[in-house]
Amino acid sequence: MSLLEISVLPGKGRGYRATSDIPIGTVLHVSDPLATTLSQEWTPETCLWCFDFAYPKKQKTKALTEPEKLTLSLQWSVAPKHLSFKDMLFCSHTCKLSCQTSLSSDWIPTLAMHYRLDCEFKNTCNNLPITKAAPIEPEFSKHIDLNNDEALSTWLNQAWACLTDPLDLSKKDLHDSDLSMSRLIGACILRSQNAPTLFQDLLVIQNNELSHFRTHFNASLYPTNPQQLPLHCTKEVYLSLIPDDLLDVMALYCFFARSMTKPLHNVPLISGITHNLFRSIFFRERANSFGLWEMGSDEVANATGGVSDDLELLGFGIYPSAVYFNHSCDANVIKVRDGRSMKFISRRMIDEGEEACISYGSVDDDVRSRRQRLLEHYHFICQCTRCTQEDLIIR
Ligand SMILES: [Zn+2]
Ligand SMILES: [Zn+2]
Repeated sequence: MSLLEISVLPGKGRGYRATSDIPIGTVLHVSDPLATTLSQEWTPETCLWCFDFAYPKKQKTKALTEPEKLTLSLQWSVAPKHLSFKDMLFCSHTCKLSCQTSLSSDWIPTLAMHYRLDCEFKNTCNNLPITKAAPIEPEFSKHIDLNNDEALSTWLNQAWACLTDPLDLSKKDLHDSDLSMSRLIGACILRSQNAPTLFQDLLVIQNNELSHFRTHFNASLYPTNPQQLPLHCTKEVYLSLIPDDLLDVMALYCFFARSMTKPLHNVPLISGITHNLFRSIFFRERANSFGLWEMGSDEVANATGGVSDDLELLGFGIYPSAVYFNHSCDANVIKVRDGRSMKFISRRMIDEGEEACISYGSVDDDVRSRRQRLLEHYHFICQCTRCTQEDLIIR
């Protein structure tokens, strides 16, 4: 019998609750990722499948054997030397096989996705950053209320729909982290096409797009009516009103769509990319992925929940089944990475019926900074027991 059940918790939505008394040190749940990505910085040293970290050595097993490389080279009309996939290395043949088996029909599309992103990244990266146009405040008679969900979501759809030119926002600077994020989103999109039931698990997670926009929208851009947005703008007006943080997301989408669809020898296209699909993944990933950290000694892992200052961030993964662990700044559960899986372990006794919570990131700061960080990243004001108590003390 499962130690956890999903229940509706007053004021918090759904969450995991203990179905019986649970002793300290019990593995409550093991979650496998829908998709993972490596930090670009550590790609040669990290196994693409199990996240084994071989630094300072590079991982040895390549994505393609020499004969496989030659076959693909003929199919794609790309010279073999360009098909080395230096960012897709494995610690062993076992890991490579597990990866191929798990991806199944997505394996070749995954190679195509990586190849396409790499090519386009090299093209795009040398651009100078663009300077944002000065805010335009047109005289519109019709406005929408920023706090109206339906109206804001229509407004955002219209803004995104303006991005029709493949070269839109192509002058915006891209970073290595954009490449990693694109690979993660690409992996999810491939899953959505070839393993739709797995992908459905992701869609259960709440989409944070509206709260993200409200958090980042700078009302001073449109000072006459800080809680309103003009309806039916031109593309220029839309883009001038979009917060920088969202403009970066849009630039990432344009880069991604361009990479996947542009003619490139005979490298397969990745079809079905729409801004709706991209956003539906991006705005779920942001608050619901876990960092995959280098494994420390058990002592370090136990004391810190798997994270320490000395350890490197090797990548990210999206773990849909872990979404029901809500946050607490005094969590009763820690997560510990086990290969590419996440284990959730009780860090103290949990009573039957008690909610099982983890901490989203470090909770070492004082209550104000903690709440601020959680609001920015996860879009909620923490009301956990610890925050409530500490808040009373500082008042
Ligand atoms: Zn491995
Ligand atoms: Zn808290």
